[in-house]
Amino acid sequence: LKRVIQAAKRLLKRAIKTKVPLVTIPAQQHQLSKHAFQRRVLEIIQALKNAGYHAYIVGGGVRDPLCGLIAKDFDIATDAHPEQVRKIIRNSRIIGRRFRLIHVFFGKEVIEVATFRAQHDNQHRSEHGIVVRDNTYGTIEEDALRRDFTINALYYDPDKQIILDYVNGYYDLTNKIIRLIGNPQERYREDPVRILRAIRFLAKTGFKLAPETEAPIKKLAPLLSHISAARLYDEFSKLFLTGHAQATLIQLQAYDLLKWLFPATTALLSEEKNAVETLTLLQQTCFDTDARLQIGKRVTPAFFLAAFLWFPFQHLISHEGNNYPRQDQIYQYAKMILAAQHRHTTMPAYVSQFIQEIWFLQYRLARIRPSQAEYIVNLRTFRAGFDFLILRAKVATTLKQTNEAKTLNVLVDFWEKYQHADENERKILIKQFPKSNLIKRNKRKRKVNKSTS
Ligand code: ATP
Ligand code: MG
Repeated sequence: LKRVIQAAKRLLKRAIKTKVPLVTIPAQQHQLSKHAFQRRVLEIIQALKNAGYHAYIVGGGVRDPLCGLIAKDFDIATDAHPEQVRKIIRNSRIIGRRFRLIHVFFGKEVIEVATFRAQHDNQHRSEHGIVVRDNTYGTIEEDALRRDFTINALYYDPDKQIILDYVNGYYDLTNKIIRLIGNPQERYREDPVRILRAIRFLAKTGFKLAPETEAPIKKLAPLLSHISAARLYDEFSKLFLTGHAQATLIQLQAYDLLKWLFPATTALLSEEKNAVETLTLLQQTCFDTDARLQIGKRVTPAFFLAAFLWFPFQHLISHEGNNYPRQDQIYQYAKMILAAQHRHTTMPAYVSQFIQEIWFLQYRLARIRPSQAEYIVNLRTFRAGFDFLILRAKVATTLKQTNEAKTLNVLVDFWEKYQHADENERKILIKQFPKSNLIKRNKRKRKVNKSTS
């Protein structure tokens, strides 16, 4: 009997909790055109509907066009279960453990289809209260309530061209407010990454955080230390490599959150003698990253991270009192910095390898053997290393570090000309290369090496 009563109570609680008022926003009010959405997204929705299911566009795919922004990707929410979606849409795969989702593939492009989910009290949680698995399917109302922010919980129905809103998200969107759904403390505790997501949407939309959404951030930010470094890496790339890096940097600093992603860099920002130099490099990197994306150029996480970790790397080297490190030492120091960073944002191996190459090139581009210039300029990593040199020159110039700026600008000038020069011009350029930066052949050493070998 006790169990029956408990079950009835649970059901009642759920019924009360999920009885949320629905606001329907018609086309003439939201003014989104069905044609603003990718044809493929509409096709997937149509296929699910033809099979008798409900399906909507949700999340950034609705939020961004409503804000006048271009959506990065489109997410579809449906009452079909992953296995059912798999059967209807052939070019798809079930992914995820924490959340099971469907990825539909069109070449490189991926569209995510998620089944409506419910938030249950008995979810699998870690010792810190973080939800580690959540695959309980639910109704559209429940699905709306388990989403993070109200502006992310708008459901667009392409057939009827209406938006379904269970959480007053449309009101918040028109008033430019980012508001967590439900009890903010609880929602951050369930998933502390929502703190970083709040910052991301803040930077992206230029909206304001609702006071109750903003208030717990400071106190609960330490929960980010329980999030896997792999997930934080994903979040880092969404924060910084999607066109809003400058605004993101400002907001992360304003909320004292940068340290959860880049502790070594943040430590330098709090040291009086290093703060300005470090901040200038971070700002310039963010500026350049946003500018590249704006003109449709690619950005690489490795270049960005090489810049964000450059000063920790440089300080390690000078701390060791080794201003002219050998090749193996450069790699050794680089590995130490990257190993420490790995504990916060786990970088894929190719990224950390590339960062090391960029750093190593800074030494090779500064001091060359005449016979190697040709080889260096043909390296696969030359472009990134050269761009990094330009970045450093810009920072030194901004900071009016006269000597450093002069040295770097001479190098930039040399490599700029050298890469476009023909054979003869290259010989002349080498002759003009500042003598102090040339490494002469050490004949004696060579002889010794020869005899020993
Ligand atoms: P963008 O694609 O521009 O990064 P988005 O809002 O679409 O932004 P996604 O990470 O693609 O964000 O997630 C899609 C939707 O899934 C979100 O809009 C939100 O409704 C929901 N969601 C994602 N992550 C969480 C989370 N940690 N907690 C609750 N809901 C989430
Ligand atoms: Mg999205």
